[in-house]
Amino acid sequence: MILTFVGTAGSGKTTLTRAFGEYLEGNGYRVSYVNLDTGAKRLPYKPDLDVRDDVTAWEIMEEGYGPNGAIVESYDRLLPRVSEYISSIMELKGRSDYVLLDTPGQMETFLFHDFGVRLMENLPEPLTVYLFSPDILRKPADFCFARFFGLMIELRLGTTTVPAMSKVDTVSNIDEYRRYLDDIEYLTARLRLEPSTQGLLAHRMCLVFPELAPPTRVLYLSSKTGEGFDDLETLAYEHYCTCGDLT
Ligand code: GDP
Ligand code: MG
Repeated sequence: MILTFVGTAGSGKTTLTRAFGEYLEGNGYRVSYVNLDTGAKRLPYKPDLDVRDDVTAWEIMEEGYGPNGAIVESYDRLLPRVSEYISSIMELKGRSDYVLLDTPGQMETFLFHDFGVRLMENLPEPLTVYLFSPDILRKPADFCFARFFGLMIELRLGTTTVPAMSKVDTVSNIDEYRRYLDDIEYLTARLRLEPSTQGLLAHRMCLVFPELAPPTRVLYLSSKTGEGFDDLETLAYEHYCTCGDLT
C-alpha cells in the first residue's frame, strides 16, 4: 500500500511518517519511507528513498536563489527523473507492506508542480491523507474550507483523499471539532446562521458537498499519543481491499 501525507507546512507530515511507520512496524508490517522534500534538513526516520540524494533546496540557495525560488528550481531539476522515482517507489512497494510518502513542507510545491502531480498520477491507487492542524479551524466556515480542500486535492492528484486532523492531543474539545467535521448536515445548518458573505458562501458550498463527495470518514490523529493510528490502518486496509468505500 502507498500512503501519501499531504498538508501545509507544519501540519505534521514528517512527524506522522515516522510515528505511523513505527506503529506499523510494531504491528509486524514491513514499512518503506520516502522523503520527497528537497528542503528537509533533518528527518526523524531513515528514508529508503530520498530526493535529497539528487538535489537539495539548500545547495540551490548557494547558487543565489531565494528560499522559494530554490524549492521550485529543485523540483524543476527532479522532474526529468520522475519516472525513476516512480520505478523506485514501485520497487519499494514490491518488498514492503506499506510505503509512506512524506511530501514537501509547502503543500503547493507538491500540488502545483508537475513533479508531484505526475508522480501521484502514475502510482497505483495511492491513498492520500490530507493533514490539517486544528489551529486552522476557528470559525464554522473554516471547517467547510478544510472539507473542500480535501476534495480539491483529490481533484488535483486524482487519488482518493482522506481528510485528517493532526495534533489532536493539543485540543481539549475534540467533540466540537468532530461535530462540524463529521456531520456536514450539522455544519450546513450551523452555517445558515452566519450573517457574513463568507458564511453565506460556505453555507452554499456545504449544501452541495454531499453531492460532490462520497461519504468519507475524517481521521483524528496524534503522532504524540498514537491516537487514530488504528483508524488510519483500517482505512488504508479498506482502501486497498474493498476498493474505495471509505464510509
Ligand atoms: P510538516 O512540515 O508537515 O512535515 O510538519 P512536521 O512533522 O515537521 O511538524 C511540525 C511541528 O508540529 C513539529 O514541531 C512537530 O513536533 C509538531 N507536531 C507534529 N505532529 C504533532 C502531534 O501529533 N502532536 C503535537 N503536539 N505536535 C505535533
Ligand atoms: Mg516535513
